[in-house]
Amino acid sequence: MKQGKLIIFSAPSGAGKTTIVKHLLTKFPCLSFSISATTRPSRGDETNEKDYYFINTEDFLHRVARQEFVEFEEVYSGTFYGTLRSEIQRIWDNDQHVIFDIDVEGGLRLKRKYEDDALAIFVQPPSLEVLKERLTGRGTDSPEKLQERFIKAEKELAYADKFDIVLKNYDLQTACLEAEKLVSDFLKK
Ligand code: 5GP
Repeated sequence: MKQGKLIIFSAPSGAGKTTIVKHLLTKFPCLSFSISATTRPSRGDETNEKDYYFINTEDFLHRVARQEFVEFEEVYSGTFYGTLRSEIQRIWDNDQHVIFDIDVEGGLRLKRKYEDDALAIFVQPPSLEVLKERLTGRGTDSPEKLQERFIKAEKELAYADKFDIVLKNYDLQTACLEAEKLVSDFLKK
């Protein structure tokens, strides 16, 4: 079985990691996005099997029981997200490295498992206030869901120093350039 590397981007929701990951995918053809499975419904602009594998809770829990996930989390109450082993292998079999956009706990779990084959990057937003503004501005979540995201974000900010690198996203262009350098150096190792 082939094995490549893993580049993990974790951060509280709204910190900008998805934008940075999308940028890196345009710059590094050797990277492929790990499509997670989730039980949350798709947002208007998301596509099944491209952004996520959208599955129902019953299917998700069957897969948990069959140990199909390398990591999974109930990221928000009643809403599961997870990385399928088959997804990582699919990418490695294609001679590519895997890039993840994943929550903080899941990111650290992958880092513990893959150790030096993985680079774990924490994306730090300028402040909790900015994060809240970004999340509210998306307009995709109900007030209750937003509140849950705020509470989780506050907790997640405390995890930064457990990562290999903290990437400050105060200015998106600068953060993208720094991310390019980090990835390029890691892939050369
Ligand atoms: P969203 O609902 O905004 O797409 O994602 C919510 C959170 O779940 C984000 O922090 C996202 O990175 C995280 N997430 C997405 N996929 C996975 C996964 O496979 N595992 C874990 N642990 N978190 C994930």
